Amino acid sequence: MEYYSHQISRLIEELSRLPGIGAKSAQRLAFHLINMPKEQVEHLAQTMVDARNNVRYCAQCCTLTDQELCPICKNSERDQKTIMVVETPRDLAAYEKTGKYNGVYHVLHGAISPMLGIGPGDIRLKELMERLQGDVNEVIIATNSSLEGETTAMYISKLIKPAGIKVSRIASGVPVGGDLEYIDEVTLLRALEGRTEL
Ligand code: ZN
Repeated sequence: MEYYSHQISRLIEELSRLPGIGAKSAQRLAFHLINMPKEQVEHLAQTMVDARNNVRYCAQCCTLTDQELCPICKNSERDQKTIMVVETPRDLAAYEKTGKYNGVYHVLHGAISPMLGIGPGDIRLKELMERLQGDVNEVIIATNSSLEGETTAMYISKLIKPAGIKVSRIASGVPVGGDLEYIDEVTLLRALEGRTEL
């Protein structure tokens, strides 16, 4: 990339480190940024820095938020005794988009994967178990239907069942290996309604 000046090359290089951005997209974005009004670029950069500095894990459900508790955990209209366990904040967003789920969530930030060396201690399971010391009616396991998601679901249900809390798993209307965030709302709702007790 020596045909570009140093700063342009550096910008392209930094952008190409982002997920899903190949060399071509990075070049396109770099030149787009260079042509944008200065204030707009400064605003974008500041927004990125602010988000990175202020976003943290919700003290209750571990989703990403800029406050101590996320808006869902804070909402007294939500059924705080029904907890849906998901892998990522994007999965949470997918269920929120349906507008039909009134419980709360627990975000694991990953799934157990012996192949990748990700064990139960590497995801937010301890936090979930601590929550279950409180008043909980049902835990709905909505991890993906990938091998990792199923492994995680099995592990969690074995962990929770002795506590006498109802544990259910969303129906497998969700295609195998399918990421929750790409599945349409109707399918998600059907999977939720058709959940089976473990
Ligand atoms: Zn929360």
